[in-house]
Amino acid sequence: MSHAYKTVILARMGEIALKGLNRGKFERQLMSNMRWRLKEFGAFTIIQSQSRIWIEPKDPESDLLEDKQTAQEVLKAVTQVFGLVSASLVWKFEGTTIDDIKQYALMLTDDILSEHDYKTFKVESKRGNKRFPMASPEIAADVGEAILIAHEELSVDVHQPDFVIYVEVRESMYVYSEKLEGHRGLPVGTAGKGMLLLSGGIDSPVAGYMMASRGMQLEAIYFHSYPYTSERALEKVKDLARIVSQYSGTILLHVCNFTDIQLNLYKNSPQDMLTITMRRIMFEIAEEVAKKQECKCLITGESLGQVASQTIEAIQITNEVVKTMPVFRPLIGTDKEETCNISRRIGAFETSILPYEDCCTVFVAKHPKTHPQKKHIIEAESKLDIEALVKQGVEGIETYKIERTPRG
Ligand code: ATP
Ligand code: MG
Repeated sequence: MSHAYKTVILARMGEIALKGLNRGKFERQLMSNMRWRLKEFGAFTIIQSQSRIWIEPKDPESDLLEDKQTAQEVLKAVTQVFGLVSASLVWKFEGTTIDDIKQYALMLTDDILSEHDYKTFKVESKRGNKRFPMASPEIAADVGEAILIAHEELSVDVHQPDFVIYVEVRESMYVYSEKLEGHRGLPVGTAGKGMLLLSGGIDSPVAGYMMASRGMQLEAIYFHSYPYTSERALEKVKDLARIVSQYSGTILLHVCNFTDIQLNLYKNSPQDMLTITMRRIMFEIAEEVAKKQECKCLITGESLGQVASQTIEAIQITNEVVKTMPVFRPLIGTDKEETCNISRRIGAFETSILPYEDCCTVFVAKHPKTHPQKKHIIEAESKLDIEALVKQGVEGIETYKIERTPRG
């Protein structure tokens, strides 16, 4: 008997499988996103079969996935493509008999036990190739018995096993054990494009990730108040965009030089309304840029009640300047702790908490109005030439193309 197996990846689609007539469109987008995401690692054959995707190195002699660390990196990249429930590294081998399956299942068990001190297991089996003479439950029972004989220290637990050996019998045969969770959602590119107001904080990168997970392509705008905020604050925002782009694909980041506008507001509008006037201008500039870039909505990281500018009155008064598109606030009902959990899971948290001030912390009033009314804003903006300020903001924009760093 030979020991010739190849490591391949099996990924499982999620919500797309529930789509009706449109399903084909979602699947094609997912496949195209997957090809794009894996390009940096090498050439792969990516094949869809029902609600599953099989990924293998194009060159049958390639050892691309045989190094464990590289294989894990590729697997992680696979799970970052929205639309998948989970993915596994799978050993593929050519075999015809139950003894072939046992051999590889035992090898896999040895491999697992060399890294983990597991005591219980179970075997699950699927048979796609109906010419194989045993049914799935028999295959599972036979393989389980072989493992028990080889490992006296193990016992079977069908409810809460320490590990599972999965066996699949198709044209080829497969064994695997771990499933890495995917990020679910829908493939980016199936829901239009949105303009994310991206600050250096925790919330907005998560908000962008969440909209991308609904299939939305992203552009982003950052309001930079140099030198009140440092160059490093801008670098941090670029880093955050790069982290989000691992999931969303390339992000065009528009940087609006906000300093002169803010100084103007600082001079010409009342202190307690500063946050609101500033946010209204930000939204107007963002909307203008969004229109130019054919984005169909704005996206922010606002969450109800989190700070003074996120009361319902403050949100309404900022919202009303945006006339031509919806403003999506995916975190509006999300608890901060939950947002931090998502931030950690997507790998943004460590960057988000780096202490470079964003513009709102430099120019904040000591006692902002938490329940601003229409009359307050009319009064606050009476001395401002809003149109000119918006034009100034839009004209000064610099745009950067942000792509994930290879293997980042
Ligand atoms: P974040 O953690 O995203 O910074 P936050 O809790 O600090 O959010 P605010 O600072 O009030 O809340 O900002 C609310 C939202 O406004 C942010 O989530 C972001 O979408 C947008 N925003 C705030 N500051 C900027 C900025 N300098 N550039 C671009 N967008 C910004
Ligand atoms: Mg902030």
